Amino acid sequence: MSDTSSPVPAERSALVLFSGGQDSATCLAWALQHHDRVETVGFDYGQRHHVELQARDRVREGMAAGFPDWGQRLGEDFVVDLTGYGAIAESALTADRAIEMEASGLPSTFVPGRNLVFLTVASALAYRRGHGVLVGGMCETDYSGYPDCRRETIDAMQSALGLGLDTALSIATPLMHLDKAQTWALAEQLGGRALTALIEEDSHTCYRGERGARHAWGYGCGTCPACELRARGHAAWTAALPA
Ligand code: ZN
Repeated sequence: MSDTSSPVPAERSALVLFSGGQDSATCLAWALQHHDRVETVGFDYGQRHHVELQARDRVREGMAAGFPDWGQRLGEDFVVDLTGYGAIAESALTADRAIEMEASGLPSTFVPGRNLVFLTVASALAYRRGHGVLVGGMCETDYSGYPDCRRETIDAMQSALGLGLDTALSIATPLMHLDKAQTWALAEQLGGRALTALIEEDSHTCYRGERGARHAWGYGCGTCPACELRARGHAAWTAALPA
């Protein structure tokens, strides 16, 4: 990767933290709707399931093909190798541990400091690529109280990164106060049923990395916490749709 000079002003240029899941796919659509130039970054921190990283390509390609305006704004994709961090942060997502609640009150899927690390690495890339906005799917509503998903944490990171890079960097979190049903509704607002169909089919959320059975809400084991959350939100969203 190299320095880039873009004709788009930094505040109109966004870097999306993009995992290929439902939330970050919705964030990507939001960023494409509200910015003139958008790039994506994904992190490989030794997830058991590279299936999530593969979903990224399908979602990006689907949005570029299905929404020509977005296709013109969508730029490069970057995948950063953070397997060293994954080794430190080992939890149920990165090792063979059961997905359960721990004594701390946090589920074993909590990777300590994950969003802090992701935002720091993304800010370095954004600096190099001329982006003034980071977009992330952090959300206070659904995530079992992950402390690094709170807006208060994000505000502190925004200040620290802006000071440390001596630049105006904003961190947009369009899903912060939405539940999963509202996230489906936001996707529909942004790109209609074509977008929700793309997210159902191509995004990937399941902690176990399963893509066998196709449910109304997409692929997944159907029983892990991520699948349950996605299925419940999808059911609530479709139940509220006009007949
Ligand atoms: Zn699952």
